[in-house]
Amino acid sequence: MTIHYIDAGVNLTSSQFDGEREDIIMRASNAGLSKMLLIGCDLRDSDTALQLAKKHQYVSTAGIHPHNAKDAPHHFVDKITQLLDHQEVVAIGECGLDFNRDFSPRNIQKDVLEKHLDLARITKVPVYLHEREAFSAMKEQLESTTVEGVLHCFTGNREALEFYLNYGLYIGITGWVCDERRGAELQSLIPLIPDDKLLLETDAPYLLPRSLSPKPKYRRNEPMYIHKVAHTVAQLRGQTIEHIAKLSVKNFNRLFLAGKN
Ligand SMILES: [Zn+2]
Repeated sequence: MTIHYIDAGVNLTSSQFDGEREDIIMRASNAGLSKMLLIGCDLRDSDTALQLAKKHQYVSTAGIHPHNAKDAPHHFVDKITQLLDHQEVVAIGECGLDFNRDFSPRNIQKDVLEKHLDLARITKVPVYLHEREAFSAMKEQLESTTVEGVLHCFTGNREALEFYLNYGLYIGITGWVCDERRGAELQSLIPLIPDDKLLLETDAPYLLPRSLSPKPKYRRNEPMYIHKVAHTVAQLRGQTIEHIAKLSVKNFNRLFLAGKN
């Protein structure tokens, strides 16, 4: 029996998928993936993600990734607000802070994030948050507002996990957890996530699960590998893969779709 999954974060607009998008979608649906959340990383990308979502009956996000914060046009909040009128757009983001790469100056990252958070607070649309090595700054910004959403691709420590959970956020787990070297700390935290806060995502084409065997020819990740994330998470939590898949679908629907129809 095929297990039914939702991938809570795919960069389907990535040029790494050019020329193969239809095949990737076909393989994903053969692997039991009925729905994907397509990530928008800047305004143009959010538009493209929306068009793909419309075409394939998926859903998408609208926002500006911290890497692109330095290029955010001054009217970006208006533009995101317009995108939110489409029923496919179910989250504000990908937005957040990345002090690992620092592709945008930190003060600009914070400013652009704050505008996303304000919009989320006003519209009550969930945020799709990215945080790499920026926990204390993220904590400070979240503490000064009230939003709901997901901390996507969580890679932090126990203190960060406990804060995000207490704040009420969902936690997105990617193939990072399948990495026996840099994923060790994350693996130890997986059992601490309550059943009703867990989301599974691939973040494809990034983060190819290292547990894949045989390894694909290209290092590129695809949504059809979501089952590898589910498998590892299920093992770490002592639950069945069916149970993990089912609860992550339920959580996805509650967070992103309940308010939309
Ligand atoms: Zn991210």
